[in-house]
Amino acid sequence: MNASTIIRNGWQKVFGTGARRERPIAGDASHGTILYLEDITVSFDGFRALNELTLYIDAGELRCIIGPNGAGKTTMMDVITGKTRPDNGSAWFGQTTDLLALTEPEIAEAGIGRKFQKPTVFERHTVAENLELAVAGDKRVWNTLVRKIMREQQERIESVMQTVGLGTQRTMLAGNLSHGQKQWLEIGMLLMQDPQLLLVDEPVAGMTPQEVERTAELLLSLAGKHSVVVVEHDMEFVRSIARKVTVLHEGHVLAEGNIDEVQNNAKVIEVYLGE
Ligand code: ADP
Ligand code: MG
Repeated sequence: MNASTIIRNGWQKVFGTGARRERPIAGDASHGTILYLEDITVSFDGFRALNELTLYIDAGELRCIIGPNGAGKTTMMDVITGKTRPDNGSAWFGQTTDLLALTEPEIAEAGIGRKFQKPTVFERHTVAENLELAVAGDKRVWNTLVRKIMREQQERIESVMQTVGLGTQRTMLAGNLSHGQKQWLEIGMLLMQDPQLLLVDEPVAGMTPQEVERTAELLLSLAGKHSVVVVEHDMEFVRSIARKVTVLHEGHVLAEGNIDEVQNNAKVIEVYLGE
């Protein structure tokens, strides 16, 4: 446990873990950090899936997370999205949102979108309807405002369809899309919420080489406007998009750096050869 965690834990004892308060330690906020995971430990029956994991993601960054099976990648995403509560550690979204004090829906509402491996689109609806359904929340508006809101939403659907490259499939049933197109549609559905942070678990599994290439372009185009964290096994894909790569192993960061640095890292080579 580092000094800042000790201070923060002390703070939490006195003030509780309410979501609407300042992150007690500024950390490297001046660099625009959007996600702070510090000393996160998750145990399953005594086995540590995450073991004092500390990881920071910058605003607008595209980060790849790699690591052998069982390294804790999915568990890490479960902690960020509130699906799993850690035994220890802290998780902050920006300076003011304590993720450990929020429920799963509250975390999504706060601006964290998650794309699971399997696409979960509405197969019997068109591409455009899927995007509409992704924001089918608040229609309880005054009549005079409805038209304006509907127009804005229409523009947003158009813009997201262009972003994910499904403009010409807008009236197609989602069930008839290719596997890759379904994945893009689901990313589009997440984009409808305009998340600040997008978590994507193994996006290119099962895709054709052409689809992999287009997915790389899509994720690269999202970086900057959003922070994107991609968990992926396909090293060629990681090489094509990665700026900074984090290697997880046994619930902990084994190495971090650009793709060449991590691929030449002796500890990383040892772990992958021993797989
Ligand atoms: P990765 O996504 O990197 O392959 P996971 O985060 O899925 O790894 O799993 C990390 C470790 O935690 C694995 O050893 C896995 O078996 C274990 N684990 C994950 N979820 C559970 C759970 N709900 N119950 C027990 N063990 C789990
Ligand atoms: Mg996993």
